[in-house]
Amino acid sequence: MKIRQRLMTGALALMTSLAALAADDHDPAKKEAGPNGGRLVTAVEPHLELLVTEDRKVKITFLDEKKQAVDPGETTVKLTCGERANPVRMTFEKDGKSLVSKEVLPEGKNFPAVLQVKSNGKPVFERFQLNLADCPGCEYLEYACTCDHEH
Ligand SMILES: [Zn+2]
Repeated sequence: MKIRQRLMTGALALMTSLAALAADDHDPAKKEAGPNGGRLVTAVEPHLELLVTEDRKVKITFLDEKKQAVDPGETTVKLTCGERANPVRMTFEKDGKSLVSKEVLPEGKNFPAVLQVKSNGKPVFERFQLNLADCPGCEYLEYACTCDHEH
């Protein structure tokens, strides 16, 4: 007589779907800056920091829950900024774990910007005002402001 051993399959598959339900933390009352003083974008997973560098380039760094840089993998970003009639389209290349724009920001200190983040699914857009003035109410520039002062 031949005894056939069968492996028992676990119920692990049930647990993985629960982890995917982890909620987005879109709490408008609590704003946070990125670890380098940039704008924290939480509309995408993983979250990212958008930072304007001293040479007016834009640096995007994806962050894990502990705000440590994570590799962007296949995720791509684009940034369009400036007036709608004459927008500047910025493209990015990898620099370490970050993505850094090849172009520099247009002249000026305050213009509308749209960030597009694309990984596997649909692109996610983040529209904001890229204001490079110092915020009077907190230690960050306006685009990364974490306070609720009147604009
Ligand atoms: Zn502020």
